[in-house]
Amino acid sequence: MSATPSTAFEIAAAVRAGSVRAIDVLEAHLGRIAARETDIHAFNLVTADEARAAATRIDDLVAAGRDPGPLAGVPIALKDNMCTRGVPTTCSSRILEGWKPPYDATVVSRLAAMGAVSVGKTNLDEFAMGSSTENSAFGVTLNPRDTSRVAGGSSGGSAAAVAAAFAPVSLGSDTGGSIRQPAALCGVVGVKPTYGTVSRYGLVAFASSLDQIGPFSADVRDSALILESISGHDPLDSTSIPQGPLDLVSVLDHDVKGMRIGRITDMPEGADPDVLGRLEAAFDALRAAGATIVDVELPSLKYGLTAYYLIAPAEASSNLARYDGVRYGRRVDAVDTNSMYMATRAAGFGDEVKRRIMLGTYALSAGYYDAYYGKALKVRRLISDDFARAYATADVLLTPTSPIPAFKVGEKADDPLSMYLCDIYTIPTNLAGHPAMSVPFGESRDGLPIGVQVMASTLGEQPMFKVASALERHMNSSGGRS
Ligand code: GLN
Repeated sequence: MSATPSTAFEIAAAVRAGSVRAIDVLEAHLGRIAARETDIHAFNLVTADEARAAATRIDDLVAAGRDPGPLAGVPIALKDNMCTRGVPTTCSSRILEGWKPPYDATVVSRLAAMGAVSVGKTNLDEFAMGSSTENSAFGVTLNPRDTSRVAGGSSGGSAAAVAAAFAPVSLGSDTGGSIRQPAALCGVVGVKPTYGTVSRYGLVAFASSLDQIGPFSADVRDSALILESISGHDPLDSTSIPQGPLDLVSVLDHDVKGMRIGRITDMPEGADPDVLGRLEAAFDALRAAGATIVDVELPSLKYGLTAYYLIAPAEASSNLARYDGVRYGRRVDAVDTNSMYMATRAAGFGDEVKRRIMLGTYALSAGYYDAYYGKALKVRRLISDDFARAYATADVLLTPTSPIPAFKVGEKADDPLSMYLCDIYTIPTNLAGHPAMSVPFGESRDGLPIGVQVMASTLGEQPMFKVASALERHMNSSGGRS
């Protein structure tokens, strides 16, 4: 038997060919989880028994001469805000305690139909609100590269699961940066696709006009493979774009000669010098590969964070109204219905979720709506217009993913504003609905991973993946040194 395959691509090929058994691949991953999960806390739940049963079914299909699908035997970890039938889905919140969804999210059923094997549900900031997983009701996820530091968030568990090789690939959700920022902090690839390319059916809603599901992986090709597998129209999501799956793997070997890479001259300041140094190295690498660097201005970008912290809480305050102690999860009994609502929500939600609900309710209230929510929508439009002008001269834009590498656990926990600033470079793409991804591109002086963000216009996943792939080739060929 050949050496154990490690990427999703290699695993699926080997399992389909019958040269490796899905159950052996799974056991290797469960073994790593057993060895290290207590130090990392990537998962809220490891579904080992269900995974063994699924892997055995895959092996039986292969033995019977049938093809289990393009993701045959690929272990995958799912952020715990994606519905899994009969398996607890908590959003890392006490308010959903005991709730088991009666259906699978579309991404979950698609992956299973293609032969992937879910290994469990990963930790997140409660209801995906945060940048460090410190807002989880079940405790923080630690960074596999340095366990005194956070893994980022809100999809910290999914990023850490891939960085610790608990699974070759995982899914996260990204409303303002929650896939890209933890990917950057953990040294893995993370992709937020164009709004509407991946179904949100069965994703527990945070801010519905911003939320998107996307993959994490160790290399660019695995993210391309997973995104191809989960994208494509879904009639169950009214915002799903009516087109087939994305075609990404086929463009990865294309070169970037003649491509126009945008440098934002008025980019919001405040990034760590090591992060800016890696961004410059990325421009240099692409220039050396034959691309042209063009300067672009996006004057409205600096208002992105402010607009986001009105729009996202406004939508959240409405989406989270459904947790009333009647329909889902936990109930705290009280003398009458109104008191029951209040007692349930007071006990069930954590501080950050309460803060967002209050912010959002205020921004939407009569007399303040136009001044706050209405104005934020206008800023959102200005940002989209800025991007449209920039993409008239550039194929993709490059920025840091996160202004800083992974920070220490507790360092920002009592300072919401400094936590919000972690997403300064990632939020604008969510407001515009555009795709963006983080690619590992070297390290800080302290040896912490640094990610570069590649952004593209609506449905610009192909140029985005081409550039990401070129950056990865550069890192591989330079041995990670430049
Ligand atoms: N950190 C941002 C927030 O707390 C983004 C979260 C996300 O993308 N889900 O809102």
